[in-house]
Amino acid sequence: KANVETRHFEAEVQQLLKLMIHSLYSNREIFLRELVSNASDACDRLRFAALKDDTLLEGDGELEIRVEADKDAGTVTVSDNGIGMSRQEVIDNLGTIARSGTRRFLDSLSGDQKKDAQLIGQFGVGFYSSFIVADQVSVETRRADEKAGVRWSSDGTGSYTLEEIERESRGTTVTLQLRDDAVEFLEPARLRHIIRRYSDHIGLPILMPSEKEGSEAWEKVNEAAALWTRPKESLKDEDYQGFYQHLSHDPEAPLAWTHNHVEGRQSYSLLLYIPSRAPFDLWDRERRRGVRLYVRRVFIMDEAEQLMPAWLRFVRGVVDSDDLPLNVSREILQDNRLVRSIRAGAVKKVLGLLEDMARNRPEDYARFWDEFGQVIKEGPAEDPENAERIAGLLRFASTRHPDGQTVSLKDYVDRMQPDQKAIYYVTADSHATALNSPHLEAFRKKDIEVLLLSDRVDEWLVAHLPEFEGKTLKSVAQGDLDADEVDDDKDAEQQAEAHKDLLERLNKALDEQVKEVRVSRRLVDSPACLVAEQDGISLNLQRLLKEAGQ
Ligand code: ADP
Ligand code: MG
Repeated sequence: KANVETRHFEAEVQQLLKLMIHSLYSNREIFLRELVSNASDACDRLRFAALKDDTLLEGDGELEIRVEADKDAGTVTVSDNGIGMSRQEVIDNLGTIARSGTRRFLDSLSGDQKKDAQLIGQFGVGFYSSFIVADQVSVETRRADEKAGVRWSSDGTGSYTLEEIERESRGTTVTLQLRDDAVEFLEPARLRHIIRRYSDHIGLPILMPSEKEGSEAWEKVNEAAALWTRPKESLKDEDYQGFYQHLSHDPEAPLAWTHNHVEGRQSYSLLLYIPSRAPFDLWDRERRRGVRLYVRRVFIMDEAEQLMPAWLRFVRGVVDSDDLPLNVSREILQDNRLVRSIRAGAVKKVLGLLEDMARNRPEDYARFWDEFGQVIKEGPAEDPENAERIAGLLRFASTRHPDGQTVSLKDYVDRMQPDQKAIYYVTADSHATALNSPHLEAFRKKDIEVLLLSDRVDEWLVAHLPEFEGKTLKSVAQGDLDADEVDDDKDAEQQAEAHKDLLERLNKALDEQVKEVRVSRRLVDSPACLVAEQDGISLNLQRLLKEAGQ
């Protein structure tokens, strides 16, 4: 045909397709979840666009998703009357991997099938999962503000075709020609079951042809009320977990969640999750936050970074406000009183959730700390208002418990020596260096516990955490030690007098490198160590700043 154009997939798409077909084989049913999820997103986006321009609805404002199997043809079809795609959008969305995250995902593949399959879950490669069950996929679509439609079609190997079509209804129809070994998905009962399992929480009706003999009607298969609007008592763990999957594409169940309806000067609903595992890009500064904003059930935006501070960037979930205007933009969010108060409320809920986990589910909390502890350590600097509560969540390695970060500041304070005044820590660029620091000698001798800090963020943390429960946090390597920390039987002045010549020679020899050489009482076995000035910045921080080119 003259108007059919053939195009090649981007190399990465081919790589992804091959990988997916092989590694997701045991979990093939997720293709339906992905297609329904895309259809739901497309309806959300239409509803949002129609707030500004209601002609987009073309008189058909009842957004819905239809799923149908045709046994004779061997096809499964998923249709929506959402926003649809233009020809260029089809090329961009279905022929390339537009999202930089997916690109990085491909770079991070290990070749280990099991690990890589888990990674796929994290990314939600979505649409391409159609090819796990289909050997031919066609997408017919018309964008809400365009006249012409387009058909995309591919067998998922190297290329796809595009052709212009006439299409009366707005939206998208995806038709899967099932592989011979996937005909189980032609069974309506199976499809219903999958929809209920994965998509019950979708806030739109998902319809299937009625089972009744001779009936032409379509029946709603899912609950179709946005999950977070339903009363807590009516929801089971599976419901919450299913919704988390939909939001996050994380194959693992979340560690914890909190669901609240807040009423008061303003009302909003929150459903926030703590994932079990850190995403691959947790350290990416550009990464957006994982909270979606809705206003009165209408989807407004993904990744609303104003709703969650950076030190909680791993939290996923939904905020639905009753009071914000529907036309809010990212700019408005940046400086909005309502948003600030929602954010403060959301942070308090997450703090409460973590405190509860630390108290009642210590094993889960330990897991949480291993995954996200370093991010939490950014908290006191970023959020001084909550520093005290954040401090309560911190865990460290110490000279008493050197394996893993398990010691809370509360544990430490409870174990302090009767006359001990400060909470002591040592910072170093590795755990081994911290543990072997000569600065610890005097403390060991007096049986004083010292926190071992070797995460990059630790210097930043202690710089913003001057005290806990009235006890000063103090570096063992900074300034003079207090009397209670060292033996006073050795008189420093006497010692200095006795070694006067040596000190003079050392001071002269190291004139350029150090400020002063003096007799120390902080060492037991080592001959010498470096000490930072009382009010100067610590040695380790100096080194970090140097590394950062400052
Ligand atoms: P994701 O949904 O995570 O963005 P997908 O691979 O599932 O990734 O989909 C890729 C893109 O294709 C979507 O972001 C969307 O722009 C477009 N798309 C897919 N399905 C539809 C649909 N039913 N209607 C409109 N656009 C769609
Ligand atoms: Mg998708």
